[in-house]
Amino acid sequence: MNPIPVAILGATGSVGQRFVSLLDNHPWFKVVALAASDRSVGQPYGKTCRWVLSEAMPDWAREMLIVPAEPGAIDSRIVFSALPVDLAKELEPQFAKAGFNVCSNASSYRRDEDVPLLLPEVNADHIALVRQQRKNHGWSGAILTNPNCTSTGLTVALKALQDAFGLQKVFVVSLQALSGAGYPGVASLDIADNVIPFIGGEEEKVEWEPRKMLGKLVNNTIQLAETKFSAHTNRVAVIDGHTVCASVELTSAATPEQAIQALSSYQAPPEARALPSSPQPVMLLRDENDRPQPRLDRLTGKGMTTVVGRVRSDPLFHIKFVVLSHNTIRGAAGGSIYNAELLVNEGLL
Ligand code: NAP
Repeated sequence: MNPIPVAILGATGSVGQRFVSLLDNHPWFKVVALAASDRSVGQPYGKTCRWVLSEAMPDWAREMLIVPAEPGAIDSRIVFSALPVDLAKELEPQFAKAGFNVCSNASSYRRDEDVPLLLPEVNADHIALVRQQRKNHGWSGAILTNPNCTSTGLTVALKALQDAFGLQKVFVVSLQALSGAGYPGVASLDIADNVIPFIGGEEEKVEWEPRKMLGKLVNNTIQLAETKFSAHTNRVAVIDGHTVCASVELTSAATPEQAIQALSSYQAPPEARALPSSPQPVMLLRDENDRPQPRLDRLTGKGMTTVVGRVRSDPLFHIKFVVLSHNTIRGAAGGSIYNAELLVNEGLL
């Protein structure tokens, strides 16, 4: 097929750089525009962007001139948004109205009833909301969102347990990487030798977003899962990879062996299994007693696989485990690209 032109909004930031890197040689998409703030507009990407990834900046990006984040400055059907939340709130509907399909990382529209909050390996069917959204607003484009990066791996693991046993209560403690705060993010003197037990707005997201993704699509609306969540979220001195320690109360009790069986046999829905960014495998179960670890396991399945370990009995609830997910790949840019692939594959472009 001919390459589909795409653009990146917020291309110079922490998530924007991941988009540039992951879209290099993408089999379906070709980046035709990189957009950022007035600070960067008109300058070559290679000059204005302080590249912080270990892989090299792709040559095609180096000379590309930054354009403003405005519909009139961009010619593509898909835009990947890595904009700050307040700006995404203002600009993403303008792009959708102008016919762009906005695959967004920002939280601005995740709670809207007609906006899909997607993890294709969990709730690919929710993409049908795009039709309702276009009808509601009279848009030819649409906004599609991916969840906050801490909810991402957690929800993949919870989906397997929900399908097998039902889910009543989930209690989680996160250990979140620095790249989740963008660049330059948290000051080094605040985080070195330290843990910060507060991330603004994060606990509310982790307590609500999985309920939408684990909910059912009925008559073009999502019925939120009834599961109750409690979250503690912490920033730790890790570069990439969010770790979440979870305890869950199931509807039907299960042994750790049964939970391991449910987690390791979980498959993505058929329509989300063979896309270019489909995680292979969806979930990897580690049986060592000290895994997963961010430094060792975050790049499993090119950073798209959810890694689970330490599945055991919980004295308060039923089962507890540890889940790790790469926050700027599966939890951000890679997730948005996976959503865009699903959109194309479902004939919704
Ligand atoms: P970031 O590193 O601070 O990057 C922000 C980007 O937005 C930069 O490219 C910046 O361009 C651009 N920008 C700022 N003001 C602008 C303006 N007025 N007009 C156009 N562009 C503007 O942030 P990030 O961590 O990549 O996060 C981006 C979004 O993804 C946020 O909504 C965040 O909540 C969400 N998210 C992040 C993660 C993560 O792990 N980091 C995970 C999930 C979701 P300049 O360089 O020109 O200033």
